[in-house]
Amino acid sequence: MESASGRVQVWARVRPPIEQDHGPCHAVDCIDKTVRVRNDVDTVERMLAGQAETSPSEPREFAFDGVFGESSAQRDVFMQIGLPVLREALRGINGTILAYGQTGSGKTHSLLHQSAKGEEAGLLPRLVASLFLMISQDVANVYDVEAAAVQVYNEQVDDLLNPDHQNGQGNNLNVRDGGIVTGLNWIRCMKPDEMLEAFTRARANVVYAETKMNKASSRSHAIFQLRISKRERVFEAAKTGQKVECTIARLNVVDLAGSERVKKSGSEGMRFQEATNINRSLLAFGNVVSALAARKSHVPLRDSKLTRILDGSIGGNCRTCLLVCVNSAFEHVGETLNTLEFASRAMRVEVDAKVNTALVEVSAKNLLADLNPEAH
Ligand code: ADP
Ligand code: MG
Repeated sequence: MESASGRVQVWARVRPPIEQDHGPCHAVDCIDKTVRVRNDVDTVERMLAGQAETSPSEPREFAFDGVFGESSAQRDVFMQIGLPVLREALRGINGTILAYGQTGSGKTHSLLHQSAKGEEAGLLPRLVASLFLMISQDVANVYDVEAAAVQVYNEQVDDLLNPDHQNGQGNNLNVRDGGIVTGLNWIRCMKPDEMLEAFTRARANVVYAETKMNKASSRSHAIFQLRISKRERVFEAAKTGQKVECTIARLNVVDLAGSERVKKSGSEGMRFQEATNINRSLLAFGNVVSALAARKSHVPLRDSKLTRILDGSIGGNCRTCLLVCVNSAFEHVGETLNTLEFASRAMRVEVDAKVNTALVEVSAKNLLADLNPEAH
């Protein structure tokens, strides 16, 4: 079987300063494929106090597969990360793209942003548009494309495309081995607009649940899933009801919860809910990456709902891409260093992605697709 082995690929993106930022920014520079962080604590403190900078000590440097500086465009992120993963998915290779970083570092902006101005659109809407463009240009094959979306909050998995979610209760779905969420709604999409509408609805449900249940967005994970199957347009097989081989790929786009540490100090007076708000799924995700990076025999995938859903998607039969987002403000240097250290560890995780195939019987429905290339 054809395979593409290698390791998890990692990119870093530095968010430019925005209005809400406090204190001096530009603690982080990008040079080629390296991120450089000025971590001299004294220098940082002097700068925060508004004093002139004196000779700073050596900066910390982290090398990745690519870096996106403060002036990088959404298009660059898609071209380097999204497009290669999409191309592989059309060959039957699973892909997972995860955004990791502290709250406010640009994860949602990079992955999900939708705007009337196309140039600001994030990776997921670009991926959807490119997918349907590629499908329309491939007259030799027939495709089936489906979309689903889940949220993991407080160890509960909810279907973001299930209308029951609207009541704010969620539907608390189970996760089977291999990352299969049982009872999840998969929506078959024939046009990019159908898939974009589904994902927009899913995203609106995250926001709705947050407001209704007072959930903090920084504590929930949103996972957008695509299933793409492809087979040759075979008229003879269709006539005889023969089985034909198709490729099947699953794509995950994961907007992870904010990675910042909840301050442990001062738990006195802190409400119990806040004290227990440390995200178990995110901790488990970090532990899984560490175990895989260290080639440990036991990988604690079953420790949380998120890692159960990502079973096979990190360090398995999947092309896994991590986009770590960091803030360029000096006040966040500590979190930035944590994030970049985590990202360096993730680069040591091996993957072994294979072309996934299955035999499908050509049904009357598929025959229609064969005879009507315009349907896709
Ligand atoms: P996160 O999802 O990591 O919490 P967001 O994506 O919501 O962070 O970004 C926080 C804020 O910064 C938002 O107002 C967003 O529009 C802005 N922002 C993030 N990345 C960029 C960027 N590359 N360019 C311009 N603004 C950005
Ligand atoms: Mg976000």
